[in-house]
Amino acid sequence: MSTIGSSSEQDVVGKVAKGLLIGGEWRDATGGGTLPVEDPSTGESLCEVADATPEDAMAALDAACAVQAEWAATPPRERGEILRRAYEAVVARAGELALLMTLEMGKPVAESRAEVLYAADFLRWFSEEAVRIEGRWATAPNGGMRMLTMRQPVGPCLLITPWNFPLAMGTRKIGPAVAAGCTVVVKPAKLTPLSMLALAQILDEAGLPGGVLNVVTARSAGKTTGPLIDDPRLRKLSFTGSTEVGRQLMAQASRHVLRVSMELGGNAPFVVFDDADLDAAVDGAMVAKMRNIGEACTAANRFHVHASVADAFTEKLARRMGAMKVGRGSEDGVEVGPLIDDDQRRKVAALVDDAVGRGARAIVGGEQPDGPGHFYPPTVLAGVPGDARLLREEIFGPVAPIATFATEDEAIAAANRTEYGLVAYVYTRDLDRAIRVIERLETGMGGLNQGLVSNAAAPFGGVKQSGFGREGGVEGIDEYLSIKYAAIRV
Ligand code: ADP
Repeated sequence: MSTIGSSSEQDVVGKVAKGLLIGGEWRDATGGGTLPVEDPSTGESLCEVADATPEDAMAALDAACAVQAEWAATPPRERGEILRRAYEAVVARAGELALLMTLEMGKPVAESRAEVLYAADFLRWFSEEAVRIEGRWATAPNGGMRMLTMRQPVGPCLLITPWNFPLAMGTRKIGPAVAAGCTVVVKPAKLTPLSMLALAQILDEAGLPGGVLNVVTARSAGKTTGPLIDDPRLRKLSFTGSTEVGRQLMAQASRHVLRVSMELGGNAPFVVFDDADLDAAVDGAMVAKMRNIGEACTAANRFHVHASVADAFTEKLARRMGAMKVGRGSEDGVEVGPLIDDDQRRKVAALVDDAVGRGARAIVGGEQPDGPGHFYPPTVLAGVPGDARLLREEIFGPVAPIATFATEDEAIAAANRTEYGLVAYVYTRDLDRAIRVIERLETGMGGLNQGLVSNAAAPFGGVKQSGFGREGGVEGIDEYLSIKYAAIRV
């Protein structure tokens, strides 16, 4: 039974297909199993969706394999135009998709709307890239033959997506896969399946042939996807989630030497030099830290601030974060929603308690509120010592720990002191320093006087244990293409 409030909330949830999309048909799970989807701001159930069995997942792979050859042979322009129509439909329905996302994930509606538009952008970008899959023609250096290089769809893909960006993490895999001529099975996170189901309906209405996109929602991710990864017909696994699960999936994928892309955890440093424009740095910090309630792999996880400006930066950031309105994401003026579940809230609280226990000071926040929902207040911690766990571990919550440094070398060493390498943010007005620092940071992405790096036209991805592979940009489609070279005697 649904306990959601307003009629518009009931409408958006009611409109979503709750079954499995397999071979162009919506169907129940074998045996009729379902799983609840909760509103994290109340802990109450929004609705139930199908809980796929391993057999259902295999049926989805069968459907993807059945149409792979036909889809690969479909003219690129046609593939692109389907994505373009889906882009337009997502933009036209941004309001209802945003509300749906807020209900299942918790972030404020304005942020959900921003994600919907960001997600749509991948559909538009890859609709344009579908017609630019090109090869090369060359004469061998010794003149003995010609060399033809072509790029072909890799084949059926399994796409596993997380709960923090329920739509965008889907479109930045589905967009390039479909554009490249691959068929896919998507397994969204069980906490936030509704946005993906709504997207599947839109792609279906946009004319995507049955079987090209299959969606399986399931309570047990491992049991459902394991048999697909073990099936030699699967040719590609793209995963966004924790480093821990990514590592397990890579081990599984080694059996058939499956091609993989991994977007894993992050521990982004946000470095503020003494020559930075401090107000701009605080504006950037608000975005890098508070976007998505801090539940982003790109979230600024730790602030390294030059000792001479640390007090001023801390005071300005604490004032801004302390003034943010916390509440249910669908309510007017709310800027900080709940965390996704109580496990996440416990983890965040334990990291804060650890830092405070080691001598950090909570300038704002740090106290868990009573009442329903998994809320945690925006928190700024000053004087965080080097051994605090939250400088090493991904926080995934609205907590900004601030540590200080004295020299540029010290700042870079601190920024790189992590097994992760997704993104780093740097604030400085010195051009030489900016270039020096960006070059020495061990990350896949950098924000220079800029608190947000995500863009459909840019290659998103990490190094070290943040993973490999790039999503978006001209590079994004390469993850779904294999290079074939033919030697031609002339
Ligand atoms: P997070 O919860 O931080 O997003 P997870 O790595 O736990 O990160 O989950 C990301 C996605 O991976 C989700 O769709 C989840 O259901 C899926 N997942 C989790 N464990 C496994 C597993 N053992 N095999 C396949 N997929 C998994």
